[in-house]
Amino acid sequence: MNFTRLRLAGFKTFVDATEAPIEPGLTGVVGPNGCGKSNLLEALRWVMGESSFKSLRGSGMEDVIFAGSGGRPARNHAEVILTLDNSARLAPEPFNQAAEIEVSRKISRGLGSTYRINGREARARDVQLLFADASSGARSPALVGQGRVGEIINARPEQRRRILEEAAGVSGLHARRREAEGR
Ligand code: ATP
Ligand code: MG
Repeated sequence: MNFTRLRLAGFKTFVDATEAPIEPGLTGVVGPNGCGKSNLLEALRWVMGESSFKSLRGSGMEDVIFAGSGGRPARNHAEVILTLDNSARLAPEPFNQAAEIEVSRKISRGLGSTYRINGREARARDVQLLFADASSGARSPALVGQGRVGEIINARPEQRRRILEEAAGVSGLHARRREAEGR
């Protein structure tokens, strides 16, 4: 499943509604220091179910919401919407009927975050499984962030195996097995 579009509003530096088309193939994000390149990658991870503050470079869930800068007041909501091309019908059931899948995550101050898949409210788990089956997701090797190459080189063998399993597309099976076993 290819990602076709990423939309953000109120997420970190992306205070105004921003839309980024994602073309097939390798996508690079370039720009001056501090312009929001890493934030863009974090938005992609966040909408796919990332919940670790560390990998989102914050100390709390709400740190992803625009905190105010340059005279512009802070926002109370952040939303990221990721559109996936499912024309090859590779998505798992029950999402496989639609040719296009829209996954969104919205956080509001004091209210936590909610996910939607094609407009219907979903659990974080549903979103994570959807992407795990598609060999993608917040921890996907397809997202190469700053320092990631060095991390892989220095990884312990078990960590490196996990990275290879993600790339091979079997990590969704492990996640389903853990869920079935109630772990
Ligand atoms: P570099 O080239 O140095 O890696 P970058 O393009 O990756 O830069 P980012 O790390 O994405 O830049 O963006 C950093 C900027 O985002 C900082 O100026 C920081 O203040 C701002 N920022 C982070 N979180 C928020 C937030 N919640 N609200 C407003 N601004 C934020
Ligand atoms: Mg960066």
